[in-house]
Amino acid sequence: MVRASGQLPAAPGPAPGDDARDDARDDARDDARDDARDDAGQAEVHAASQGALEELASRLGRLAMVDQPLGSRTTYRVGGSAAVMVEAGSTDDLLAVSEALRPLAGSVPVLVLGNGSNLLVADRGFGGLVVSPGRSMAEVEIAGTTLRVGAASSMPVVARQASAAGLMGFEWAVGIPGSVGGAVCMNAGGHGSDMAAVLLGARAVDLVAGRVVDLPAERLGLGYRTSAIGSGQVVVSAELSLEAGDAAEAMAQIGEIVRWRREHQPGGSNAGSVFMNPEGDSAGRLVEQAGLKGFRMGSARVSEKHGNFIQADEGGSADDVARLVFHVQGVVAERLGVWLTPEIRMVGFDQAGSAGSPP
Ligand SMILES: Cc1cc2nc3c(=O)[nH]c(=O)nc-3n(C[C@H](O)[C@H](O)[C@H](O)COP(=O)(O)OP(=O)(O)OC[C@H]3O[C@@H](n4cnc5c(N)ncnc54)[C@H](O)[C@@H]3O)c2cc1C
Repeated sequence: MVRASGQLPAAPGPAPGDDARDDARDDARDDARDDARDDAGQAEVHAASQGALEELASRLGRLAMVDQPLGSRTTYRVGGSAAVMVEAGSTDDLLAVSEALRPLAGSVPVLVLGNGSNLLVADRGFGGLVVSPGRSMAEVEIAGTTLRVGAASSMPVVARQASAAGLMGFEWAVGIPGSVGGAVCMNAGGHGSDMAAVLLGARAVDLVAGRVVDLPAERLGLGYRTSAIGSGQVVVSAELSLEAGDAAEAMAQIGEIVRWRREHQPGGSNAGSVFMNPEGDSAGRLVEQAGLKGFRMGSARVSEKHGNFIQADEGGSADDVARLVFHVQGVVAERLGVWLTPEIRMVGFDQAGSAGSPP
């Protein structure tokens, strides 16, 4: 999995004038590229050899699903297939995956898939193993003000259950169409809160070490839409600490958040905010200022409603979405001197954007 680091396009339109501004812009771009290079450390192998994949599928036995379409498992609803996929029903299944991977020693890239609401999978697919916690890992237990929730639980469902039980502090999660595991990994948040504010800790299966690990929140490195969870760690459950409150009040807040989202965010196929907000600014505002609202490339377009949403047409192409992500990134850098960092995770693209080269 590689974060986007497209080359800058030669953007049309007026360029910012003075040297100081150009220097600042160059510095911002260099910093972002260094960050992207650091992140690329997670990428290791892009695709496994056919032999390694066959060996893996055979070692996985009944757990292996071969050539599984991923588009329908993401909210973008575009993109290719996983060479091999496992829908894990339990921690034991994940330990079996670890066992199957062991002799292949890093030659098969692994992607953990939640609800696919923050992922863009390339049209060529993912040439490795996709591991996803299955429906049986979606249990929710409430004990006092503490919730123990399975990784596959849906954030909106947990938000509603907690609110109905009179627990407050998780209403914001009703607007996040992801799984709890994905939310821990992304430190998802909104409406002034995030996972870091409520998370006591997470349990994960470390696919490399082949064991279950309990990770207190302080060790999860939670920051703005980031965590220290590595690509070989599968979150299986999380423990949340909420506050005792009033169910009617919590449900009213849920209603207000749902209303706000409908009013301000587009529907259709997307993965929420494409770019992280730069410190003190909003990515959507910058995209709009760069004149890109409504801009289209093939089957992908920047939403008219919200500049930080890129939508894919039904039956569209993930590579078009990726080209547009790189284009927006480049135009905003050229026109406004800000290098936007993608929040969405781009899977199966190479460092320069296999989607075709950035424009
Ligand atoms: C309409 C819309 C609105 C959105 N609004 C917001 C918002 O307000 N705030 C916000 O933060 N996000 C928002 N998002 C993005 C997305 O919902 C969140 O990032 C969410 O937390 C992703 O969860 P997921 O289960 O879909 O993860 P996925 O998209 O499947 O994966 C995201 C990342 O998490 C990793 N991951 C997934 N599951 C696990 C697991 N069990 N263990 C380890 N790693 C895992 C994946 O490998 C990947 O790196 C929005 C998306 C949409 C479509």
